[in-house]
Amino acid sequence: MTDLSIARIDIYKVDLPYSGGVYHLSGGREYRSFDSTIVRITTQTGLTGWGESTPFGSTYVAAHALGVRAGIEEIAPKLIGLDPRRVDRINDAMDAALLGHEHAKAAIDIACWDVYGKSVGLPVCELLGGRTESKLPIISSVPVADPEEMRRMVDSFRGKGYRGHSIKIGGEPVADAARIAASLADKREGEFFLVDANGGLSVEVALRMLRLLPPGLDFVLEAPCRTWRECASLRRRTDVPMVMDELATDESSLIHLIANDAAEGIGLKITKTGGLTRSRRVRDICLAAGSTISVQDTTGSDIAFAAIVHLGQTIPERFLRCVLETRDMVTVTTADGDFGVVDGFVTAPRTPGLGVVPRMEVLGEPVASYC
Ligand SMILES: [Mg+2]
Repeated sequence: MTDLSIARIDIYKVDLPYSGGVYHLSGGREYRSFDSTIVRITTQTGLTGWGESTPFGSTYVAAHALGVRAGIEEIAPKLIGLDPRRVDRINDAMDAALLGHEHAKAAIDIACWDVYGKSVGLPVCELLGGRTESKLPIISSVPVADPEEMRRMVDSFRGKGYRGHSIKIGGEPVADAARIAASLADKREGEFFLVDANGGLSVEVALRMLRLLPPGLDFVLEAPCRTWRECASLRRRTDVPMVMDELATDESSLIHLIANDAAEGIGLKITKTGGLTRSRRVRDICLAAGSTISVQDTTGSDIAFAAIVHLGQTIPERFLRCVLETRDMVTVTTADGDFGVVDGFVTAPRTPGLGVVPRMEVLGEPVASYC
């Protein structure tokens, strides 16, 4: 095993401009560009593995890009000489070096899975439990905008074959009710809508908004409020189905969610959860509980999307709501691979590891190296 131990960890920084100009989220949050950290692990034998962690700015969850690289600086020296294929032991070592900061650990963890797959000649999805036969439906991400503009954006994604749509709302009951009604106005058979408040509603505003909606709209409310207490209060007083995202960050929050019957499903974002090792565990907790899963990431480029696709490919069809095409949100291609979206669906590559070939001319020189 020793010949495959980690010899070197290189860190790259890439700026990923948002493809739509300005992305608006509840609470007046705005995002124009995303600071991506890409990790390369090199083993003693010269095998390489790649991972990405791209926070959605600094105000989405408790993660930010400078923190990713500062966290890696704490962790990386402690991993030299360890076997990257022992993914749980790698996570033990990362936890021993730094408490929390899952977004920093994620890129390293994903790179370890890439090495693991290459070392045994298998795609990561096979190591995560085995590939399902399903094609994975893609979900759009529609930022807060005027109702008719959001309706046009949904229709544009519909034209690409997308069956799922994540509609962001802003936190003002009358305007949000209009946004939801407009976004769902042309809903077709088989389409699935998430109405995502990103924790931006008070219970009062959420109840007022729901009362303003016309009856019979088919959607799931995502992350209505900022705290568990508010979400629980809202849930007692409405029968709208809910999924959690920002509050469902790790194994313990998932156990809380299930023990309290707090939602019907989750948005499973890989870097928010700390990488593929912990996301695998969260996946299994959800499957055991019968919760639906939407596999996503905070945002990211091709390497992040490859990880999403491999994890999504292991989830039985009736529990997998959709996967997020993070590349729709950014304008830079960081890697190539056989994970193209066709008519709104994607399947995991059959090449070993993640199946990514990074574009070194885009990555440039490492901003930090550990050996
Ligand atoms: Mg969300």
